[in-house]
Amino acid sequence: MLKPNDNKPIRSTPMPALPPYYGEAERANVLAALDQGNLSYLHPDGFVKKACRRVAQMVGVKHGIATSSGTAALHVAVGAAGVEAGAEIILPPITDMGTAIAILYQNAIPVFADVDPHSYNLTPESVLAAITDRTQAVIAVHLAGNPCAVDQLRDLCDARNITLIEDAAQAWGAKLHGKPVGSFGHIGCFSLNQFKHISCGDGGLIVTDDDHLAARCRNFSDKFYDRDNTGVRLTELAPNYRMTELQGAVALAQLDNVNAIAERRQMLGQLLTQQLQELPGVIVPDVQPSAFCSFWFYMFRINPQELDCRCEDMVERINELGILVHKGYIPRPLYCEPLFQNKRFFPGGVWPAELVSGRQYDYTEVHCAAAEQVLDTAIKLPLHQGMTESDVNDIAQAIGHVVRTQTPALGSTRP
Ligand SMILES: *Cc1c(COP(=O)(O)O)cnc(C)c1O
Repeated sequence: MLKPNDNKPIRSTPMPALPPYYGEAERANVLAALDQGNLSYLHPDGFVKKACRRVAQMVGVKHGIATSSGTAALHVAVGAAGVEAGAEIILPPITDMGTAIAILYQNAIPVFADVDPHSYNLTPESVLAAITDRTQAVIAVHLAGNPCAVDQLRDLCDARNITLIEDAAQAWGAKLHGKPVGSFGHIGCFSLNQFKHISCGDGGLIVTDDDHLAARCRNFSDKFYDRDNTGVRLTELAPNYRMTELQGAVALAQLDNVNAIAERRQMLGQLLTQQLQELPGVIVPDVQPSAFCSFWFYMFRINPQELDCRCEDMVERINELGILVHKGYIPRPLYCEPLFQNKRFFPGGVWPAELVSGRQYDYTEVHCAAAEQVLDTAIKLPLHQGMTESDVNDIAQAIGHVVRTQTPALGSTRP
């Protein structure tokens, strides 16, 4: 049961808004792009080509390839990897639908592996348990900018001739062992949609160190036309996911902001974890000691038994104190959505991937216990570079107050 509360807000003013994404640098680049008289990414030495070189250099790999969205980047990665129709691709159930779209549109089968209950990411153990002789790729998501164990996943995949694709859409600036995420997999994918760390409205960037995969990504993002003049023409079906120079102009300027944004978010996230970790019934997100988390958002969990209340009530009580938080990240694991439960991926109810595979896949029988528990007990709050340490202190105070009211033995005095 939720104990009564005196309802006095800790904050009477809202949290600072996310600072404006775009400034003079973006404006100047967009105008220069227009002055080129050519907004195609094929423009020699244009903004898209520069952004591709820049992101590759930032991540520390040889190649960058631009796409129209993060979802498109992931689809191109799956296509470039040459995953066959009916093959299986492992992904976590707590992610953006874009991760699954990339798999489904390439006629592969999404296979959900469970996450770690504290990092909310895939683990080498859960991936290993999900691998079959039909697995051709793993898409590892760095949820909320928290690096997944992609170092171990890479070894595991290499030993089995499986392609590791990193979904770093939420992980701009994140690192593992000091190395940027995106550089561990065979291919890494970033998103530039309006809500990510950096944005060009919509856009995606792919990184890879592999010359062959890079050429395939370039072909696969542009109708499989032979833009590099290698003499190979239209040997495969591929979409048009080109990024325009207008997006590239903004993206190039935005890449300059990644490190500052990531550092500030990491500092604020660490501060919040320090303040929350001693609270009874509160389970802070687990960031590996060798990892740099760029906190796209901050998500912690509660122990409903210990606090004797539901997650929804806790959220409401924290909101009453003037701190806006939400339950969970997505409402339920992806496989629980009607799309998966009914397998109506295509009109007519025929799922070509399943037909080709010659097996039946039943998502009503999929249960990732940790993922379900995480989403049932998780509280998510915005954390961004526009916030100050004092904002983080207010958040921690509000959560601490609600928690202590629930556990009077630990003292419920208002700070
Ligand atoms: C945002 C996001 C995507 C998709 O990116 P879009 O640019 O919106 O298509 C894919 N995966 C994850 C984990 C994301 O957060």
